[in-house]
Formats: sequence, C-alpha cells, structure tokens
Amino acid sequence: MKQTTTQNANFIRQIITADLVSGKCTKVHTRFPPEPNGYLHIGHAKSICLNFGIAKDYHGECNLRFDDTNPGNESKDFVEAIKYDIHWLGFDWTGDVRYSSDYFNKMYQYAIQLIYQGLAYVDELSTEQIREYRGTLNVSGKNSPFRNRSAHENFLLFEKMRNGDFLEGQACLRAKIDMSSSFIVMRDPVLYRIKYVAHHQTGHKWYIYPMYDFAHCISDALEGITHSLCTLEFQDNRRLYDWILNHINIKHHPHQYEFSRLNLEYSITSKRKMTQLINEKIVDGWDDPRLVTISGLRRRGYTPRSIREFCQLIGVTKQENTISMSLLESCIRNDLNNNAPRLMAVINPLKLIIENLPDNYEEIIIAPNHPNNPDMGTRNLFFSREIWIDRTDFREQANKNYKRLTLGHEVRLRYAYIVRAKSVLKDTSGNINCIYCTADLDTLGKTVKNRPKVKGVIHWVSAIHGIAAEFREYNSLFINPNPGCIEDLTSIINKNSLEIKHGFIEPHLTISEVIQNYQFEREGYFCTDYIHSSPSRLVFNKTVGLRNINENKFQ
Ligand code: ATP
Ligand code: MG
Repeated sequence: MKQTTTQNANFIRQIITADLVSGKCTKVHTRFPPEPNGYLHIGHAKSICLNFGIAKDYHGECNLRFDDTNPGNESKDFVEAIKYDIHWLGFDWTGDVRYSSDYFNKMYQYAIQLIYQGLAYVDELSTEQIREYRGTLNVSGKNSPFRNRSAHENFLLFEKMRNGDFLEGQACLRAKIDMSSSFIVMRDPVLYRIKYVAHHQTGHKWYIYPMYDFAHCISDALEGITHSLCTLEFQDNRRLYDWILNHINIKHHPHQYEFSRLNLEYSITSKRKMTQLINEKIVDGWDDPRLVTISGLRRRGYTPRSIREFCQLIGVTKQENTISMSLLESCIRNDLNNNAPRLMAVINPLKLIIENLPDNYEEIIIAPNHPNNPDMGTRNLFFSREIWIDRTDFREQANKNYKRLTLGHEVRLRYAYIVRAKSVLKDTSGNINCIYCTADLDTLGKTVKNRPKVKGVIHWVSAIHGIAAEFREYNSLFINPNPGCIEDLTSIINKNSLEIKHGFIEPHLTISEVIQNYQFEREGYFCTDYIHSSPSRLVFNKTVGLRNINENKFQ
C-alpha cells in the first residue's frame, strides 16, 4: 500500500490509515461530488486528486456523484464536461456515475420519517422572515409560529408541497433542532424547498428539491462512503450532517473531514464568478486559456501530469493560504522541459538577407528534437538566403552586454552559421525592414579554431519554407493578486491579458485535434490551439515562458 507512512501522508491519509489499522473500516470509499453548474477548475483538481488518489493508493473506491439539487443552474452539458475532465486528469470512478437525484425518492421518505418523529415541520414564513428569525452570531434566533404543528398536519402540508399546491417560496420543510444553537446551521435549517424548475435528470417529476445538507449526508450514507472529504466552509455543517444521519433510519454513518480550499493568486476558483466573466464576454468561454478551469488549462497546454504534480506539491491541510502562480507554472515547465519537442518559431519577424548566398540557396540541416533526449529523434531544418529572425534579437547599436545581433558584429544562427550584420534597410518612418548580413560558410554547426568566439545564438526560420502562424500570449486576467476577495471583478481586469502576434514557424507541424506541446527555442512553451487553427491558419497558445521571470505582468 502506497503513502501509508506518516512522513509523506497528509492528515486525511493518516486518519484513513488509522481507521484501516483499527478496523473501524475495512475498505476506504470516497466520492467526488461536483455540482453540474459549471466546468471544473484547479480547485476541483485538488479535491479530485485527493479523493481518487486515496481510493487508488488504498485499493479502495471513489464514486463520482453529481450533487444535483439546484436544477435551475445545472445542465447535462456540465455533467458531460465534468466527466471528460476527470478522465483527462487520469482518474476513473467506481461503477456508474451517481446523482443525488437518484435518491430523491428515498430522501423524501427520510423527510417523512423526521416529520413523524416531530423533528421536521413545514414553515410558511417568507424567505426574508426566515432569515430575520434566524438571528446572528450574537443574537439568538426565534421560533417560527409554524414550528409546533402536529406531525400529521406537517405530513399533509409536505404532501401539498410535493404536489405543487404551494407557490415557490410559500412553504418549506425545516428540521426542528434549536433556534438558539451557537451553530447557525443548526437553527432549524431548511431541508426542502419548492422549485418549479425542470431537472436535467428527473425532468418534471419533482416540485420540491432537497437542500445540499440534507441530500449530501444521505447520498454518502446510501453509497457506503467511509470518508466524506470536503472544504473547510462546511465545518459547521458537519453537525447537521451527523444530526440528520443520527435521526433517520439509515445503517451507515460516514464521517466528514474538512480541508482548506485551494486559492491561487491572480485567479478565481468560483464557478459563479467564472460564469459572470463568460456572460460578460470578458473571457471566451469555460475553456478560455486565461481561466484556471481544467479545460482552460488544457487549452493553454497544461498536461494532466503537471496538474497532478501541482496538487501533490500543495498538499492537503486545514490552513487557508494562497498559492503562488509560479508553483503551478513550474510544474508545467518541468514536465514540458522533459517532454516537449523543440522547434524554432519567430514571433516578431524581421527579415535577414544573407548576401553571400545565391538567391535559390537551400540547405537541409539536421537538428535534434530534444537536446537531452536522442530518442525523440531529429528534424530537417531548411536554411535559405532569406530568413526570419526576431525583431528583439537585433539592435543597430548596443553595449557589450547585448549578446545578440548588432551592426558590424556576429551572432550564431541556431544549428547553422555565424552571420555578421552589414547594413539595414529602413522604411520612410525609420523602421527597419530588413538586415543585410554575410555568413561565414565555414562555421556550420562547429566551432572553428583560432576564430574569434561568438557568444550569442539566435533562432530563425527560413523565409521561403516557414509557415505563417499566430501566437497568443497570455498574462494574468486580473491586476489584483487576490481577485477572489473583490466583488466587482470588472474593476480589476487586466486589459493586456491577451496579446496576439503574427510570425513564422518551421514547416513541421500538422494540426490535429490532439493538443501538441512544443518548446519554441528561446521563447517558451506553446501548444496548438485546435479551436482557432484550421488548415489555412495555425494558432498557438503560449503555455508558459522558459524561466520564472518576475516581471511586471501588466505592462
Ligand atoms: P464553486 O465555488 O466553484 O462553485 P463548489 O465547492 O460549490 O465551488 P462543487 O462543484 O460543489 O463546487 O465542488 C465539488 C467538490 O470540489 C467539493 O467537494 C468541493 O469542496 C471541492 N472544491 C471546490 N472548490 C475547491 C477548491 N478551490 N479547493 C479544493 N476543493 C474544492
Ligand atoms: Mg457546491
């Protein structure tokens, strides 16, 4: 069994190990319970790696259960997207996909059990009155005037709710616990409310829907979940979780444990806020590469392995903290450094003409696909008289610290020759149109003895063979490192979160539906964006730069 030693086990794994050793349970059974009201994000990945990871390492089981008790915001499309993302992350659930709605009949019966024990009543206070009566942390709540109805009367009213004989908001079923409890969740929480909304799984069958707190513990118990893992904001709800299971006739009683949510700087992990950004067209959809949704990260070029590695590194604790974006970036950088083939791409093209080569010059140079991994093979580079280099790799004049090309000086073209810049051609506004050079034809891929050394190496693409491409570079979507704390997101949007550039790449790419990751030498890691790419248009998303540069991201 993996991960059972206390040194590398998080506190939840330690509890599970102890439970298995003591015989409190014989097999661990977890669940991942997303609400299908949006796409999964990096915070969910933490929960997925925890729940599915535990099941895997302890030879247990993990269910996928959609927490579908809020039909108004949920949809089948979200269900499908969530299933896809879980598989893509490398996990699979036990048996069939479950839905809380699978148990609506049973939950209804359990509610009646509570009613007949005098532990639940139909309340006809309005939503605002219920809120008012609930009190605050410092002020005790007060009882609803409808609290002392007889069990039978409550049963009949609950039937009336189910039959659609009340208006929405006119009645609800509440647990009868303690309006003066120091835990506000225990002040007669609502168990069922009326909603005249079609449900993506049950259609028009129900006019009443259970609340999360009622549905969740019952679903966990019915599925034989042993360890029900959730985030810290549900800590107080654990009392209600246990209260409900203690007062209905159900055999199994799972235990809830809470861990801290993942907060990532410069990003939001709230489906409600993401929905707002999408609706206001601030981003292009759930898979916008600037969002930390799983689909956005995938489109940005993140691999499942890098996301799992990130979740491993951040660990699972009860401490609330905000993780630096550079940690997530270092995970994908490490992965791609080892696994992404290299190519050359010129993102801000400037033409360089090698005057001592004939017009129709063409040479094939063999270059490795990966500098440290010969198994990744080689590719043919096409060299010609006219090539593209990056505009930032040339200055007419520069001090000694500038290692790239300047007038009168030399630089090596990656895998090819040393060239010396002779002159430039400018347009009427003074912009450089092209650079004229000569190549030292004795320097192809070798260092020549007794020749002055050339330190700088720049990348290039043949102007005849290169293929036009679009490069999409992303910066943080927000100018505030903690956007989760800001209600009005529109006030902190970074206007430069997407920069689109047009350049050229080596002619080696075929566009497929599969995301392909590359390192564009000296530029960073990129992947094909198959949504925007077509046979006549090649589009790349920048995943991450080559180094962690602490530059100001908002200029
Ligand atoms: P959101 O605010 O994005 O709607 P949620 O908690 O309502 O989040 P659910 O779909 O209910 O979203 O979450 C499914 C599971 O994923 C829950 O167990 C939840 O605790 C966990 N989860 C959600 N967000 C995070 C996060 N940021 N970090 C860790 N776990 C999370
Ligand atoms: Mg939720």
